[in-house]
Amino acid sequence: MLVKKKKLRLGVFKYSCCAGCEFELIYFQKYIRETFDNVDIIYFRMAKSGGSEEGPFDLVLIDGAITEAWQVDQLKRVRQVARFLLPIGSCAVNGGIPAIKNHTSELDMEKRVYQDITHVHSIKTHPVDDYVQVDGYIKGCPMGRKDLYEAFTSLLLGKRPSFVNYSVCVECKIKGNTCVLISYGWPCMGPVTNGGCGALCPSYNRACYACWGPMEDANAPALARQFEKMGLAPDDIFRRFTQYGSTKPEFRRGAELYGSTTQPF
Ligand code: SF4
Ligand code: SF4
Ligand code: SF4
Repeated sequence: MLVKKKKLRLGVFKYSCCAGCEFELIYFQKYIRETFDNVDIIYFRMAKSGGSEEGPFDLVLIDGAITEAWQVDQLKRVRQVARFLLPIGSCAVNGGIPAIKNHTSELDMEKRVYQDITHVHSIKTHPVDDYVQVDGYIKGCPMGRKDLYEAFTSLLLGKRPSFVNYSVCVECKIKGNTCVLISYGWPCMGPVTNGGCGALCPSYNRACYACWGPMEDANAPALARQFEKMGLAPDDIFRRFTQYGSTKPEFRRGAELYGSTTQPF
């Protein structure tokens, strides 16, 4: 007699972001239909109405950065009923694009975006792991398919996922690309950026702009000083280290040589 396998109970929660990572998840399922046949979607507003926020969940994926107080409360509740919790994409992992606002006063930023700020209650942007313990990171903008596949298959097999943990340069060298930093003197962020994209931009003869966020132990100051020697203006160097990962110390160490990352209120 066939024993029916227990399905993976999935929750997907969205905070402040473009929702591109949730779309990526929806597109991605067609490539791994067999895997998704073993998943029960308990809560995923983008894909399915209704659902229960209470779980319990085997896996929770968090899309988006934290920019409002209610999100912190919900995130902490969800963590308590989730066996594994993974932030997906640069917004959730590093603060991403939403964290660009952290270098301007919150009030100025609200006034710049909204005509009437009476009902706006935003807080400074934070990545998910500033508030709850996470079980790994699915990096990228949008999140990388390799790591997403690793997360689902590992959890279905009952093992802990192992995510990409090397720089974009490693993937670039494996592909045999010409190095745009060395050969053309272009300001490539590959040496300090986490891999997983397959060195997409250098493969099309463009410099990496760090959308995957910082690699663990990245030496951002060394690369920032190299950019200065190459003639980049201080504000240009500052932007390179703050546009995707300014909440993370690895990139802040590079940015702070050329501007202030303090977060005015
Ligand atoms: S990481 Fe990129 S694609 Fe994903 S939600 Fe944020 S901005 Fe959108
Ligand atoms: S092009 Fe960029 S990512 Fe590729 S090897 Fe050179 S510095 Fe590294
Ligand atoms: S090469 Fe850099 S900017 Fe391009 S997709 Fe990869 S991490 Fe993002």
